Amino acid sequence: MAMHACTTDLYYIHRSIKNLMLLTITTTHVPATDLGFLLHKHPDKLQTIDISAGKAHVFYPEVSEEKCTAALLLDIDPVGLVRSAGPKGNDFALEQYVNDRPYVASSFMSAAIAKAFSSALNGNCKNRPELPSMAMPFEVYIAVLPVKGGEEVLRLLFEPLGYEIQFTRHELDAKFPEWGTSRYFTVTLKHTITLQQLLSHLYVLIPVCDTDKHYWVSRDEIEKLLTKGKDWLEAHPAKEMIVRRYLKNQRSLANQALSVLLSKDDTDVEENTDETTSQADESAVRIHDLRLMAARDVLVQSGAKRVADLGCGEGRLIKLLLPVKQFDYILGMDVSYRSLEIAKDRLKLERMPERQAQRIRLIHGSLTYRDKRLEGFDAAALVEVIEHLDEPRLAALETSVFEYARPGTVVVTTPNADYNVKFTDHEEGKMRHNDHRFEWTRTQFAEWGNRVATEHGYTVSYYPIGEVDEQVGALSQMAVFTYAGQATESLTNTLEA
Ligand code: SAH
Repeated sequence: MAMHACTTDLYYIHRSIKNLMLLTITTTHVPATDLGFLLHKHPDKLQTIDISAGKAHVFYPEVSEEKCTAALLLDIDPVGLVRSAGPKGNDFALEQYVNDRPYVASSFMSAAIAKAFSSALNGNCKNRPELPSMAMPFEVYIAVLPVKGGEEVLRLLFEPLGYEIQFTRHELDAKFPEWGTSRYFTVTLKHTITLQQLLSHLYVLIPVCDTDKHYWVSRDEIEKLLTKGKDWLEAHPAKEMIVRRYLKNQRSLANQALSVLLSKDDTDVEENTDETTSQADESAVRIHDLRLMAARDVLVQSGAKRVADLGCGEGRLIKLLLPVKQFDYILGMDVSYRSLEIAKDRLKLERMPERQAQRIRLIHGSLTYRDKRLEGFDAAALVEVIEHLDEPRLAALETSVFEYARPGTVVVTTPNADYNVKFTDHEEGKMRHNDHRFEWTRTQFAEWGNRVATEHGYTVSYYPIGEVDEQVGALSQMAVFTYAGQATESLTNTLEA
C-alpha cells in the first residue's frame, strides 16, 4: 500500500492532500480474507456510512488469502462542522478555513470505527463465531494522527499494550524545515491480538492522542470509555492520562470513570460541582455545600487560628476557609496525591499572591499514621472522610487525630444512614457511594463519637446537616468534639439558628 502523507502543514493539506483521515487495518492471518467476515464488510464493495460529521467509507485496497487490508476513510465537511458547532464556532471567524479536523484522525475516527465496525468492536461474528476470539497479526496505518506530547505520549499509550510502533513525525512545512516539527504523525502499529481488542484500543486511544476539545463530552462518554476499555484500561499504566484526556479533562467525569477503574483508591467522586452537573446531582452538591459551610462555621466559632482540613480531597473546604481572615494558617492533608493536585489547581495556589499562599499548605499523608505535621492545630475538620476507612484503619485514625494531633476542636461529618430509606433507589444495606466502607445511623454515630470523646478527653455534640425529617433526621450528620473543658454552648446556638 503506497499511501503516505508527505507533510501535514495545514496549508499544504488544504492545497494538495485531501482525505487524509485514513486508517487501514491489514492482516496476514491465513486466510487473510477472514478480515472481511470479522468486519462484516464485503471486500468487493465500497460501503459508505453516515456519521454525524460527514461520511465514512470502507473499502479494501488489497485482498488476497495472504494479505488483506481494509481501509476506513472519513470524509468530513469542515465548513458544516464548524457551523454545526453553533455560536461557539463563530467566535473565530477564520476557524472554518484553518480547521484541521477533516484531515486528521481524532474523535471522528472513533465514531466511525464504532459505527462502521460495530459488530467487530463488540466481538460478534454471526457467520463465523469462532473468529472473534482468534488473535491475528495486524498492522494498522494511521495517515495523520495528531499527538499532543509527541513521541513520548505515543509510546506511553501503545507500548504497554504490546504494540510495535513505527512513525514519522511531520515537519510543520517541508519547505521551511527550520520551522520545526508539527504534532502530526503518520503511525504504523503492529500487534498480534483479536480484532476486538485492536478496535477497542484504537477507539479509545486515537482521540486520547489528540486532546483538541472538539466536541462536548457528555456523561455517556464515561460509559463508552469503560465498556471499550473494560479488558485493558484498568491495567494500563497510563490509565489516568487516558481517562482524563478521553474525557477532555472534565474533572468530574474523569473522576467518575477513575473511581470505577481505581476502586481501591480513595477517590472523591461523590459530588461534582462543575457545569456538567445534572439535575440529579444538584441535591448532592447542595448538601455537600451545607456540610462544608457547617464545618467552616464550627471552625470560625471555635476561635481557631490554625486549622487543618484532614482528608481535604479537592480542597473544597479550604476554598471556603481562605476568605476567613481569622485563619492564619490552613493545612490540607489527603492520602490521594491526585486530589491534592486538583486542590492545588482549584485553589490557584501557584498564582496566588505570596502572602496569601503562605497561609496554605497541602500535604500528602495518611490519617492512619501518627504525623507530627498535624500537631499544634487549634481545630481540624474531617468532612465525609471517616466512612472511607474500614474499621481497623478507623481505629488508627482515632489515635492519630484525637491522641497525637489533638486539636482543640474536631468537626466530623458523615452520612446519616437513617435517611437512606428516603432515596427512591433504596435497597437494604446499599451505600450512597461505592467507596463507603460503612454508613452509620445517628445512634451508631453517637456511640462512636461518645466512645472516642471519652477515651481521648473530649466532649462531643451532634448536629443534623440538611433539612430534618422527623422520622429519619437529615441527610448528613456532624459531631463537634471539644478538648478538655472548652465550652460548646455557643456553638450549639449558632448551629441550630
Ligand atoms: N473532605 C473532602 C473530601 C471528602 S472524600 C470534601 O469534603 O470535599 C474523602 C477523602 O478522604 C478523599 O479525598 C480521600 O482521599 C481521603 N482519605 C481517605 N482515607 C484517608 C486517609 N487514610 N488519610 C487521609 N485522607 C484520606
